[in-house]
Amino acid sequence: AMTNVAPENDRGLAGRTVFVSGAGAGIGRGVAEALGAAGAHLALLDLDLAAIEAVAAPLLARGLRVSCHTGDVTSAADVHGAIAQAAQLHGGLDGAVNNAGIVGASADVMDYPAEVFARVLDVNVMGVLHCMQAELAVMKPQGCGAIVNIASAAAIIGWAGQSAYVASKHAVVGLTKTAALEYAAQGIRINAVCPAFIYTDLTAELFQTPGVHDAAVANHPIGRLGQPSEVAEAVMWLLSDRSSFAVGSSLVVDGASTID
Ligand code: NAD
Repeated sequence: AMTNVAPENDRGLAGRTVFVSGAGAGIGRGVAEALGAAGAHLALLDLDLAAIEAVAAPLLARGLRVSCHTGDVTSAADVHGAIAQAAQLHGGLDGAVNNAGIVGASADVMDYPAEVFARVLDVNVMGVLHCMQAELAVMKPQGCGAIVNIASAAAIIGWAGQSAYVASKHAVVGLTKTAALEYAAQGIRINAVCPAFIYTDLTAELFQTPGVHDAAVANHPIGRLGQPSEVAEAVMWLLSDRSSFAVGSSLVVDGASTID
């Protein structure tokens, strides 16, 4: 279906429908806004309904079709319900961005609270699994689709004090590679994006500890941290047909922080 909205920036996503989890803030919000600017219709999921409704309002005013779904990605029922409803409302699903995630506690492995570790894996890994299963249930019969999982620089390198987060993001990349192999011949491309530090609520929490922000900047050879819009650019490329030969990749968007 084509949209009658002229996109500000044609990335081949106009008229496409894309699901975004964790779209109420930070990177998910940045991705939703960038997709809207490119003329894509959206299905937004978040724990916080008011937050996604605020993201949706200006896009609806531009004539885009945007559905808002309250849900917790750790609930298979929430995720399957939301994605099935979205696919019905929009007449299918062209793309999906599995973005919702949490950082967890900060403690060395010996002292890391096991219940927090389990919660981080539940949100960051099981959440992505539930989303992918529901998305593939829609995309496989269509014979086409593009899925982008938001991993992290922590999917590639270690991060002292953040074992749960690092383990969860390594798992997201493993899940991405495996699903990519399984669905590559069925018209569904599955990739990951690995951002380093991006200014969001998630990092604002970390930066409350004195010295952490400056230390983070020092770890990025580019000399600064990133913005959600810079992650959105990579996501949009992977969602579009312009990345037609990218399958199972982990695209690093990190100001060289994993290179140094
Ligand atoms: P954020 O905390 O700013 O926003 C996360 C959004 O997801 C919020 O709207 C929140 O309500 C929602 N959310 C959280 N748990 C949820 C759940 N269980 N179900 C549904 N929605 C839920 O976070 P962010 O910084 O934008 O991070 C988004 C993703 O990007 C995460 O997967 C994170 O690990 C990853 N990431 C972030 C950074 C960074 O520096 N900010 C770097 C690399 C990767």
